[in-house]
Amino acid sequence: MYFFRTITVNPTIPDRISQLGELSYNLWFSWNPDALMLFQKINKEKWQDLNHNPVKFLLEVDQGDLARAVEDPEYLALYDKVMADFDSYMKSDTWYKNKYPNLADKSVAYFSAEFGFHESLPIYSGGLGVLAGDHCKAASDIGLPLVGVGLLYKQGYFTQKINREGWQEAHYHYQNYNQMPVKPALDQEGREIIIPVELPGRIVYVRLWQIQVGRIKIYLMDADITMNNDDDRQLTAQLYGGDKDTRISQEMLLGIGGVKALRQLGINPAAWHINEGHAAFLCIERLRELVEVGIPLATAKEAVRASTIFTTHTPVPAGHDVFDHEKVNHYLSRYYELLGVDRNGFMALGWDPKRNNFNMTILAMNFASYCNGVSKLHGEITRKMFHYVYDNIPVEEVPVFSVTNGIHTLTWLSDELRNLFNAYLEPTWRNNISDQNIWQAIDKIPDKELWDLHVGLKKKAIQFIRASLRNQKYRNQEASESIGEVEEYLNPDAFTIGFARRFATYKRATLLFRDQEKLAKLFTDPEHPVQIIFAGKAHPADRPGQELIRDIYEMSQRDPFKGKIIFIENYDMNVARHMVQGVDMWLNTPRWPMEASGTSGMKAAANGVINCSVLDGWWPEAYKEENGYAIGKQTGYRTEEDQDNDDAYHLYSLLEDNIIPTYYSQEAGYPKQWVQFMKNSIKTILPEFSTERMVKEYTERFYTKATQRGEKFSQNHFQVALEVQDFKRYIKENWHHVSIESVDADGISERDLKVGDRLELAVDVYLGPIKPSDVVVEIVHGCESDHSLVNVKTTSLEVQEQESEGIYHYRGGFNLEQGSCGFTVRIRPHHYLFASNFELPLASWAKNF
Ligand SMILES: *Cc1c(COP(=O)(O)O)cnc(C)c1O
Repeated sequence: MYFFRTITVNPTIPDRISQLGELSYNLWFSWNPDALMLFQKINKEKWQDLNHNPVKFLLEVDQGDLARAVEDPEYLALYDKVMADFDSYMKSDTWYKNKYPNLADKSVAYFSAEFGFHESLPIYSGGLGVLAGDHCKAASDIGLPLVGVGLLYKQGYFTQKINREGWQEAHYHYQNYNQMPVKPALDQEGREIIIPVELPGRIVYVRLWQIQVGRIKIYLMDADITMNNDDDRQLTAQLYGGDKDTRISQEMLLGIGGVKALRQLGINPAAWHINEGHAAFLCIERLRELVEVGIPLATAKEAVRASTIFTTHTPVPAGHDVFDHEKVNHYLSRYYELLGVDRNGFMALGWDPKRNNFNMTILAMNFASYCNGVSKLHGEITRKMFHYVYDNIPVEEVPVFSVTNGIHTLTWLSDELRNLFNAYLEPTWRNNISDQNIWQAIDKIPDKELWDLHVGLKKKAIQFIRASLRNQKYRNQEASESIGEVEEYLNPDAFTIGFARRFATYKRATLLFRDQEKLAKLFTDPEHPVQIIFAGKAHPADRPGQELIRDIYEMSQRDPFKGKIIFIENYDMNVARHMVQGVDMWLNTPRWPMEASGTSGMKAAANGVINCSVLDGWWPEAYKEENGYAIGKQTGYRTEEDQDNDDAYHLYSLLEDNIIPTYYSQEAGYPKQWVQFMKNSIKTILPEFSTERMVKEYTERFYTKATQRGEKFSQNHFQVALEVQDFKRYIKENWHHVSIESVDADGISERDLKVGDRLELAVDVYLGPIKPSDVVVEIVHGCESDHSLVNVKTTSLEVQEQESEGIYHYRGGFNLEQGSCGFTVRIRPHHYLFASNFELPLASWAKNF
């Protein structure tokens, strides 16, 4: 043996195209096909081999290929165009700047455990991460001063390989950050930034990295540095890996480390968005900061709450992180001291009264002025799910709102459709994705042109899938005939269904397999061939999820399904793009109501792929008879068995009677009605279910308000926070006095009531020491259903006079609507600085009257 040192010699980028370097580090490339083309054109094969990673590509490409590119006038013309587009994007005026000029320098921090920007940055597992990535991209587009905070995982999420027996193998690869679009974050003096985070008995240090997404930056923390011991270096090894200890440690690095990191960077966000409970410890660190400078804890709570937004993402109970007493004690007891509370005082910050432990979702809810689910239905399910935390108030009024998810349209749209839109829509469409009017022009596209384009994309997807299958079989050392067979797999003329998502059992990937006889009939009709492509990863600890993958694989290996039922491995953003752009129909079969939103169907719809889905998550808001198909009923079932049966048979009949005949009814060489559906799908779904609409909604409803609240609460040494805190304390201490003494409904029982009649009430209430200006006395009226009121409205009553000590007389009324309605009267606390009616979830209701 002899010693040698390894050095890497990288190609030099010619001056003429030197800005490629900057471009490779700005994820802007991920939604600009011309920018991607700049890399691909240099060497297509290499570009594909490196999974479209531009940083690695520029390190590994041949000097000769670069030299050839600068000699090619066509290449240089494209280069100049892309760079001009890029510069103009970075400098252009934005919606946010025009609308909120005074808030231009008030940043919004967005904390998330995963971000999905592009396949070259494998720090996402699925929908949550992709949504976070799409959120940031839209924030850049509209000019929102958002700053992302997350973790950089050395091994990312796993790569999925399917072995010869059809089992998923999870492979973890060490990422080389020097070959990814991430850079070390530097302080003003140009030094690397290292953040200390206290974990039990030691300090764990994280290094800060940054990624550039258009105009905005995301900061990611990485514990794999020599200052840490070997175990601690593994803390940021894997996304959703490890046990409860890893999980709570990661969440401390994210929440606590993330706040420290922003401070170190000199960034002081005006609003803080907790994207899923994982990041909720940011509240604890922000409390600590305030307590450290002498603000009393109760005041600090109000100040933190004023500027916090929380989004919850799952109705599945196991999806909410909870930690028991012992874990909290072990990991966070240092914070008891720092906040000046005892153990119970700390537990109370996130106490879950049902499960008797510390719940990250409840922690986030307690510290957020604005809290939301990710579709209307999910908002409703979340209110029900957490009603027990707010048991004084009706479930409909639990202060959890909803902002329905969207997708970053340009990330998911095929290049071909983008060009088609350029030809037929107003040229400004790309900057006005959420403007419904622009999309009416879809009708101008000739049917045949859209159809031919779609068929082309389908062929492209099939090529891509065959290549992946060849690869898999080759790796699994299958016989050469078996590898050769792949060329016969999938028929470009057949009706093609796509199904790709995480393999969690509630998503019921194999619902279509429930009745094998029906399935065989569907798939062997020679006149109307049908095929389906599956993809998706199961969490490595989820055995039932992996069994589903195996079941599908097994079906795909035998007649009559061979070549018609396909499972493609390693679902990532690249696979997702090919699928949502190239299949005919997107199938989604979650067990209602377990899907919070779902976003892959939105990606499909934007590409003119028709959704066929259970009316769960986002679909009830988007579905119309003329833009897609709805499976099953919107109800719960007595057993899962019943539900699965009903939904499966409904799906079969939809396919047999409706979908397949429509698809195959050709007129003038194409399916006219199907193409109409495609156009309706684009027109009605694309603008509404975009992150452009979504981030604008977050901005208008939450970010700008939280920013203003946060500022107001902290002015004059937190005087307003103190005022709100005092108010809450005074109300809580005295609420037991409050009661409704009498309600006089003017003898309504003797009257014959008609629509529009006015119902007048006279109410006496006892408030004790509480002032009438500190409460609202209101009529709550709505339809009667199942012994409770639904679709409730409220009408405030006016205080008339003080009857005697603490007793007040109120009057008011409302106009009756048709049907069986009910009404009652309640008192709730009111302060002009409350973010929602039940910021303080107390209410005193009329007894019988
Ligand atoms: C869009 C996307 C998801 C989320 O899709 P759902 O419909 O929410 O299941 C998951 N993984 C990848 C790779 C995606 O692109």
